[in-house]
Amino acid sequence: MINYLYQEQNWQSQLSDLITDPLELLEQLRLSPEQLLSGAILASEQFKLRVPRAFVGKMVTGDPLDPLLLQVLPHHLELEEHPGFVTDPLAEENANQQPGVLHKYKSRFLLTLTGACAVHCRYCFRRHFPYQENLPKNEDWLNIKAYLESQSDINEVILSGGDPLTLSNRKLALWIERLESIPQLKFLRIHSRVPVVIPNRVDEALISILKNSRLRIILVIHSNHASELDDFTCSRLKELTQQHITVLNQAVLLKGVNNSAQVLTDLSYRLFDAGVMPYYLHVLDKVKGAHHFDLMPDSIDLIYKDVLANLPGYLVPKLVREIAGEKNKTPLFGVSTY
Ligand code: SF4
Repeated sequence: MINYLYQEQNWQSQLSDLITDPLELLEQLRLSPEQLLSGAILASEQFKLRVPRAFVGKMVTGDPLDPLLLQVLPHHLELEEHPGFVTDPLAEENANQQPGVLHKYKSRFLLTLTGACAVHCRYCFRRHFPYQENLPKNEDWLNIKAYLESQSDINEVILSGGDPLTLSNRKLALWIERLESIPQLKFLRIHSRVPVVIPNRVDEALISILKNSRLRIILVIHSNHASELDDFTCSRLKELTQQHITVLNQAVLLKGVNNSAQVLTDLSYRLFDAGVMPYYLHVLDKVKGAHHFDLMPDSIDLIYKDVLANLPGYLVPKLVREIAGEKNKTPLFGVSTY
């Protein structure tokens, strides 16, 4: 493994010093440029490589099949067309009420404040999402507030991807303050992969914003493999839970990355060590460019059956699929509709 001493660097400088060149990434990992088969560079032009050096530091040098590397390295197979794999698998354009607002569920709605992520996950279901046309500007706040107030069922806002923890603390605090001013809101969920890929994002300033909010904060991180959770990352996550901030994890089941009951079992135990509860295990959303991560239903069933056998119930993530237009995630297991 490469020691970048990333623990010493503040998160802002790490965020502005991402690796974006596939050849540099391979060089850092002492891998041959031939790893990039013809087409991979084009794939990276279509969905750019972005990966923090702290995350690269958790990869195994010299291993072209490292499960962390496979999640971020552009692949020529992304260029293939496959029936059913589309640019907007969850039909989110239909749920896009106004810039930044996605209202898909009854009691909660998603607010996307930024299109930026610290890392580009090759399987991301929003890899084609037209963020630039959908970001709310400051002046859109009053419209968002009016929309929220017109929906009396809503008691929770979810800040979602792009990744809200790429925002500055000033901007994050401003939006949290705005949401706090709406009495019907009780919960604020933050979906973020940043605490995993740049653990220094979880600093005193962020913890202070989260723990002092009137809203009950639930941070949902995204980790797919125990190797993403080194001791330093776990110590940062523990800081959050020690301040009574609920931290959950969602993972995506990915061929070549974590399609093994043992890998998923290790992930759950590692999360629990860090004070994080496993929440969802998503099957892959059928987004164009991610077909090579897909698994057959029978194989998913076998893996999940062993996960159920391996783990105490409180550490078993719910196996779910999101189905466009449904008002909740659809639980799976033993059904043939993956
Ligand atoms: S961090 Fe989340 S939103 Fe961003 S690319 Fe990865 S999966 Fe997609």
